[in-house]
Amino acid sequence: MRKYKMQTEKQLMELSCNKCGRKIPLKNGVPQEGVFQGQAVWGYFSEKDGEVHSFDLCEACYDEWIRTFQIPAEILKSTEIL
Ligand SMILES: [Zn+2]
Repeated sequence: MRKYKMQTEKQLMELSCNKCGRKIPLKNGVPQEGVFQGQAVWGYFSEKDGEVHSFDLCEACYDEWIRTFQIPAEILKSTEIL
């Protein structure tokens, strides 16, 4: 969950993990630890037609979530995708 402070440019004012509720430390609007930012745009063939869902997960909650996957997440080094 992200709360922004409206200034000349949008600066992140508060960031919380949606799963555990813990506040992620910020410095000048920049998260000081790894955060998963998820967004799903649900279209016509879903039961949520037109809804956009977004959430943030701290690294611990992300790790817990992906451990439940039947097929593991694909992991690449970021140098391979930049
Ligand atoms: Zn969390």
